[in-house]
Amino acid sequence: MKTFESLNPATGEVVGEFPVTSTKEVNEAVARAQVASDKWSQLSFRKRLVILKDWASLLTREINTAAELIHRETGKPVSDATLETAMAIEHISWAAKYAPKVLGSQNRPSGLLMFNLSAQVQRVPFGVVGVIGPWNYPIFTPMGSIAYALAAGNAVVFKPSEFTPAIGVWLEQTWQRIAPFADIFTVVTGTAETGVALTQSSVGKISFTGSTRTAKKVAAACAELMTPVVLECGGKDPVLVDKDADIKRAAEVTLWHAMSNAGQSCIGAERVYVHKDVADLFTRTIVELAEKIKPGYEDGANYGPATMPSQLKVIKSHIDDAVKRGGEFLVGDKNAVKGGYVQPVILRNVPEDSKAMTEETFGPTLVINTVRNMDEAVDLANATSYGLGAAVWSKRNGKKIASLLQCGMVSINSAFSFAAIGAVPFGGVKDSGYGRIHGAEGLLEFTYPRTVVKTKFNIPLHFTTFARTGFADKTIIRLINILHRRRR
Ligand code: NDP
Repeated sequence: MKTFESLNPATGEVVGEFPVTSTKEVNEAVARAQVASDKWSQLSFRKRLVILKDWASLLTREINTAAELIHRETGKPVSDATLETAMAIEHISWAAKYAPKVLGSQNRPSGLLMFNLSAQVQRVPFGVVGVIGPWNYPIFTPMGSIAYALAAGNAVVFKPSEFTPAIGVWLEQTWQRIAPFADIFTVVTGTAETGVALTQSSVGKISFTGSTRTAKKVAAACAELMTPVVLECGGKDPVLVDKDADIKRAAEVTLWHAMSNAGQSCIGAERVYVHKDVADLFTRTIVELAEKIKPGYEDGANYGPATMPSQLKVIKSHIDDAVKRGGEFLVGDKNAVKGGYVQPVILRNVPEDSKAMTEETFGPTLVINTVRNMDEAVDLANATSYGLGAAVWSKRNGKKIASLLQCGMVSINSAFSFAAIGAVPFGGVKDSGYGRIHGAEGLLEFTYPRTVVKTKFNIPLHFTTFARTGFADKTIIRLINILHRRRR
């Protein structure tokens, strides 16, 4: 059996050795999951709720184990790993609780023409959902698909990133401790080939989180088999700071928004557009705060190393390009990328067409550019191929500005917060992907609608027959006139 190792990015320690699941084994896992999905989907919402709540409770009891493992495998601080796990638990609970309400059958009006029929829409799970996950939030991010797909009655086959297989396997082990029977939730470890195999298997739907580049390959593979997909890709999230904003708070939260998790967040702040009247104050405040934070693996470090070492080259190339093209360092310098770590970097006056402003950097870097007014800020915020999240800082105009942004999620006078609210959908537009996880939309995403109409009583007029009479034709004309003809 071929295996691969998962390494601690801070120490190089081997966290574990895991199988590279072959195409044949992926197909076998999906086939077993298909059998399990029949039984799982037939359980009542109430039974699934009890099982998912058991899982949430077990993960809560073992939150320290989860956090320690995430810390070792991604390098992020234990407290961040704990927060991530707590948010994942919240989502399991929300999905389980609201699945009956969101996914229960709905009666719909059948209309005057078909008044003798009842009409109903039922929500049907896809059977098996394949979840392909990233390494940056290895429990929280895939859970946005796993919990919602399970609550909707699907079985799940999960392929974690090759950088975080230990967490995926641990998650599967915790599930097995409360599962009523086998194969409802299976983890297949491996490299990109294992992910490819999952997209080419007979799953009913794929939910992918990762880069836009890989998302396009996943969508193309799924298109061949007409497998529907949810794509949760990267972003280039802007922060818009208006002149009436609480600048101290905006600076403090934006620094965390950009640098926490070493900047490895799809909804991390990458660009700030600040009103010229408050640009100096905002810049001074954020620089002062940034000078106090430091990366590291030990207790007290604010963020960890880059989890995926190849990202370091990308981060460096964005910094170099920005500076070469006129950007100025406010915090950090050309040597910010050192060893496996990136020191905080804040730049200003970076040209809008440089890599640092157009491509996802995924590092603890931030660009601050000054704008004349919020119209200009909105135009620049929208002038990107991405459209995931955004933050707006303004006491009076937050909602107005938010309504002008082309993206899936906006927080006003806060950052990141929508990700922790079970009730609201998470996802983007443009290169940031399509489809939604979380919220009612996330539950609906893992089912398809089945329309069922039924004859309630027979009437003497028959429209759907070759024996339709002239009287029936006249009745249709009469009814349609009553319904739709307007007097001139
Ligand atoms: P990828 O998009 O390549 O990987 C995401 C997941 O997809 C991983 O599980 C990966 O497996 C799997 N995968 C890779 N290729 C295929 C394929 N052809 N078919 C099916 N599955 C596949 O992201 P990376 O980890 O390489 O990160 C690259 C960049 O993506 C980052 O620098 C960052 O900009 C962005 N990113 C965005 C994330 C987000 O939250 N939106 C999360 C992670 C990354 P494996 O890991 O085994 O290769």
